[in-house]
Amino acid sequence: MAWLQKVKRAYIRHGLQNYKIPAALWQEIESEMPLLARYTPHQKIQLRILASRILRKKRISAVKGFQVTDHMRIIIATQTAIMLFGLMDAEQDLSFDWVGNWHEIIVYPYAYRAHHNQVQPILGGLLGVETPTDVIEAGKTFYQGPVIINWNSDAPHPLRPQANQVLLHELAHKMDMLNGDINGYPPLHHNMNSKDWYEAFETAYNLLNRQISKRRKPAINPYAATNPAEFFAVCTEYFFEAPEHLNKVFPAVYRQLSLFYNQDFLRAV
Ligand SMILES: [Zn+2]
Repeated sequence: MAWLQKVKRAYIRHGLQNYKIPAALWQEIESEMPLLARYTPHQKIQLRILASRILRKKRISAVKGFQVTDHMRIIIATQTAIMLFGLMDAEQDLSFDWVGNWHEIIVYPYAYRAHHNQVQPILGGLLGVETPTDVIEAGKTFYQGPVIINWNSDAPHPLRPQANQVLLHELAHKMDMLNGDINGYPPLHHNMNSKDWYEAFETAYNLLNRQISKRRKPAINPYAATNPAEFFAVCTEYFFEAPEHLNKVFPAVYRQLSLFYNQDFLRAV
């Protein structure tokens, strides 16, 4: 239905006019975010459009007493856009299905203490059950509810020895929840195979746990060994922030995440 496409495009254009990220601010963001450097000029335009649409669609607010500036909002929206880039058409897709289970990101200035349910692995790590725990958190995600991040872990800077990008991590949990349980198994695309996914993730998860139990140097942040859900979220951080490292230590996981996020940073664009 061509007319419907036309209406959709007009709607998106209208939105973009109202919420376009100012050029000066976008240039600042571009120079600050190393994650943007791997995209072509055309792809960066698409990312700017997508980030503008995210700003229009989602609320980004702060806890009392903390100020979220426009600059911070744009950084958060751009990181979200980078994650969604391969999953939706920046200009045409109205659905926002991949981020359909949250409406707000709440920004804390620092890590906070909270009581929550933590997922514990069962059946050799294939499934998880929730148990209440009290922990210092950098971010938090609810089934139905906002994404909570801590700004101090989320300021953009060059690749770290251990990737810990809170927003990428929490959004990965949200995507994991789209098909029900938070278990490290998000809804896969038609061109993907769940057996390949399980094999890649289970092998890598078991290897990481073996490295930790034998007191060897863990291949990635040992927090990933907590349970399969955390493993998926931490691997997502590495996929975007340190793809070469992830591909070196867990190539099959890199391949599956490349299919899932529909982006491949190791192949020339
Ligand atoms: Zn987590």
